Amino acid sequence: MINHNESFSNIGLKLKSTYTQLPKILFSKLMPISVKDPKTVVLNEELSTELGIDFSNLSSEDLSNFLSGNTIPTGIDPFAQAYAGHQFGNFTILGDGRALTIGEQSTPKGEIYDIQFKGSGRTPYSRGGDGRAALGPMLREYLISEAMFHLNIPTTRSLAVVETGEKVLRETPLKGAILTRVAASHVRFGTFQFLAAHKDTDAMSKLLDYCIKRHCPEILDSPNKVIKFIELVMSKQIDLIVNWMRVGFIHGVMNTDNSTICGETIDYGPCAFMDQYDHKAVFSSIDYQGRYAYGNQPATIHWNLVRLTESLLPLIDKDETNSIKAAQSTIDSFSNIFNKKWQNMMRSKLGLTDQSEEDEVLIKDLLSWMQSKKPDFTNTFCKLMGSNRINDEEFEDNDFVVWKKNWKERVNKSDYLNIMKKTNPILIPRNYLVEEALHEAETTGRLDKFNDLNKVISSPYHVEKVPNKYLDTPIKSNLPYKTFCGT
Ligand code: AMP
Ligand code: MG
Repeated sequence: MINHNESFSNIGLKLKSTYTQLPKILFSKLMPISVKDPKTVVLNEELSTELGIDFSNLSSEDLSNFLSGNTIPTGIDPFAQAYAGHQFGNFTILGDGRALTIGEQSTPKGEIYDIQFKGSGRTPYSRGGDGRAALGPMLREYLISEAMFHLNIPTTRSLAVVETGEKVLRETPLKGAILTRVAASHVRFGTFQFLAAHKDTDAMSKLLDYCIKRHCPEILDSPNKVIKFIELVMSKQIDLIVNWMRVGFIHGVMNTDNSTICGETIDYGPCAFMDQYDHKAVFSSIDYQGRYAYGNQPATIHWNLVRLTESLLPLIDKDETNSIKAAQSTIDSFSNIFNKKWQNMMRSKLGLTDQSEEDEVLIKDLLSWMQSKKPDFTNTFCKLMGSNRINDEEFEDNDFVVWKKNWKERVNKSDYLNIMKKTNPILIPRNYLVEEALHEAETTGRLDKFNDLNKVISSPYHVEKVPNKYLDTPIKSNLPYKTFCGT
């Protein structure tokens, strides 16, 4: 391990490691495994400023050595987290098999964020894996997570990607890379499931208090804190999924280890944004049953929340029957809360400011027309917002014309356009653009397309800032779009 510690003393790293004060069952301390020839591919300067870190005085060699884990400045004590998870419904003991958290950074605003290297080598939780990651999937995570951030959707963020100078073996040898991920915390539903599987109630109680202190300190002294915690996690997750539905995002692998307590989107594996509307849209090559299809995401998060609640039952009451009784009404309130938030989101997409009983029918009619004609999801709302560029033939359809006339009469009196503009992105990271950018980076090492796309995704609500080519409805492909986990 190379060590240039003096270079790092003034860059603003304020890393604590509060997680490793928790019971030892929850983590393993270890160092990243050095890589051959690290080179920084992309660095998020806006995010580093927000974190209070200034990399500008580092040499490019020191920067790459830091971001690859080749140099670990003094005082930093990296660790991998243990967790479990239901993967496609099957319970498995997991853990960070290829990631290490280097600590929690205090930002100038006083916020705390985990900083984690993904792809940093094998850990005690790697199972059969190599602990590494490939360049394409890490650039994909960088791009999509940043797109989500600019779409105003809670998400982990991406600080950097470095190439390792080593190959990773997948179906073919691929360029290796490490992503630096930033999260409000990495505690997952599966972290609680892990402790429940070990029947370690004491550690669970400590983890619960840790999460409460970090994410919702206002409930720490509540006599009902476990139920309140479940309610708050549920509320954040409902907001998150409603946001995904708003922009046509399909996560693709909503296993309980990929649902976070902090309510951020995490793990951009086989995710994608849908072009043509389809309630059943699935892109992941391994989601054969459509378990995580666009329209199944609300039911899936409910299922995941039930798994989290089951794990927490021993902390509610010593008697399980009493615990179930206490938690049941919270779990049962899911549908009402979800439906209300989803309706409100759809009402905003249509610019409906005042409530009317007919709204439900208006929304339902539009969605059933969309399901039958499969227009572009994003551009349907751009069409409604009056975009002249959108002239797809679907919008000539008589049923749409009649629906639109009806809708226009309903909204005309209000300031509907303002709300629609804030709710409906004019730009999403289109699948074909993402693929083109990654293909160029992987095959030629050039980042022109990646950088262009990375720039435009930062203004998804401002039509004047986006070149026209990004606004057109993509040409329909005869082949279904497929995404891969890329592990
Ligand atoms: P993910 O699909 O990224 O959510 O990963 C699921 C689990 O597999 C997590 O425990 C990961 O740490 C682990 N994993 C994924 N890829 C690898 C890899 N290449 N080596 C070791 N563990 C991995
Ligand atoms: Mg994961």
